[in-house]
Amino acid sequence: MGKWPGIALLLTILLPAHAAWAEVPRPERLLLLVFDQMRPDYIDRFQLKHFQKLRAQATNYPNAIVGHLGAETVVSHLVLSTGRLPKDLPWMDEVLCDKAGTLGAANAFYATGALAPEQLLQLMRTLPKETLLPFQVKQRRPGFVAAVGEKDYATLVFGTPAADAVVSLHKSHGICTPDGIAVPRYIATSDRFTLECSNAYGTERSFYPIDGARFVPGDDPAHLGGDVWVTDVALQLMDHEDWSALFLTFGGIDKIGHLTGEADGPMPLDFEPKYHLEDALRTADAQLGRLLAELERRGLRDTTLVVVTADHGAQSDRRYLGMGRSGKAMAGHGAEGETLAPWLRHLREAGNVAATFQDSAIRVWLTDMAPVNVAAVLGALRAISGVTEIHALAQEDAGWRYRRVYAALAQEPAAFRSWAAAHSEALVGTMANPAGPTFIALLADGVGFDLLGDHGGAQEHVQRIPLMLLDPSRKPQTIRAFVGLSQVRDIILAALACGRAAGCP
Ligand SMILES: [Zn+2]
Ligand SMILES: [Zn+2]
Repeated sequence: MGKWPGIALLLTILLPAHAAWAEVPRPERLLLLVFDQMRPDYIDRFQLKHFQKLRAQATNYPNAIVGHLGAETVVSHLVLSTGRLPKDLPWMDEVLCDKAGTLGAANAFYATGALAPEQLLQLMRTLPKETLLPFQVKQRRPGFVAAVGEKDYATLVFGTPAADAVVSLHKSHGICTPDGIAVPRYIATSDRFTLECSNAYGTERSFYPIDGARFVPGDDPAHLGGDVWVTDVALQLMDHEDWSALFLTFGGIDKIGHLTGEADGPMPLDFEPKYHLEDALRTADAQLGRLLAELERRGLRDTTLVVVTADHGAQSDRRYLGMGRSGKAMAGHGAEGETLAPWLRHLREAGNVAATFQDSAIRVWLTDMAPVNVAAVLGALRAISGVTEIHALAQEDAGWRYRRVYAALAQEPAAFRSWAAAHSEALVGTMANPAGPTFIALLADGVGFDLLGDHGGAQEHVQRIPLMLLDPSRKPQTIRAFVGLSQVRDIILAALACGRAAGCP
């Protein structure tokens, strides 16, 4: 000691961070937070202080992207929970073509988000349980795993059949009550968790009216809804359970983002909503702060991995191709009598179309594959304003893939062209299986259907998402690689401590 005090002191000054971090073992609990429709640029644009603080302490992935199509809630939550791309999942989009006949007749089309919980479970049970993130987390640390969120199908799909409980909301007669799978009694029977679900808060005349306090806090301080409700449920679960993982999905930003279309800045609205995008973001940020403070209070900060991400981003649909109807159009069987946007009507009249789905990209399924029909529909698709690329499903020796059959990129800005060159082919490839759409038409920035703000396609603002891992055993760092949502499951499992599990690396 006596001889080299100066060196010892110097080492202490140089290495304090390393020494401190090395003493913290890998985290054993997981708090996985999905902010539905959150964009990474919102963090600084709106000065979201809890997101900023977490980003400064975390492993941050500034180039995280959705990495698949459709860039949709019902797809991305399952990608996150399985680590699989859509082509390797039971559904790939808001439209499900049930090739195998798992739900009934083979080749039938369904609106995925409208499937009954039992049907979604039935489809998810076709996946090996080892693929499910909740199962793998429990292997590492046996304990309670739950999914919580306002949006019922998102929460169920996020939790998968491997979660112990799924807690969401069911709306009936203007009232929302806790609903899901194995909802704990202290939630189900607590008056606090029942919400008023009818006040439109000034959005009656919009395409996507607010349904009371389901997605927003609302006016009743004793029954705050939306993301506050999700957080309050999570805090109750922390209180009552020996939990290993909580999968929380916050729907407030997505609701207001679709409603107001303010993703890329203010939009002219012909209604006066009580809530704007900034309000939804401040609410979400406050919930992140509450959850982190709660971990601190419980002494769990050093043993919990906190992951913050989103299921997709969003864009303002400034070149709007819709018809001002509420909700999204799942055209296909049963579409008779539906008022269609002129472009879509033209597409349907051009040929024999089995189903379409359109948001910030257009997907078209054909069952009549006669060359004359395929050519007619492709011709009509090319004529739609804002279409930049069309990719067609093809079976080749190496398997199913999409081949680009049309491109109109020359008039697009350079930034759009380089984004498309880097990502379009890989993104459409994530839907390449026999149930995939016959055509995927990608759209220019700011082009979309039905809602003022939307997602679903390959645009940069739709694809870029936040991804931050607050790992108490690691120093803050920045990883600049493009990472997609399908990789997040393995990143999480690598960060968690390995308990009694067989499958640990
Ligand atoms: Zn979503
Ligand atoms: Zn959405």
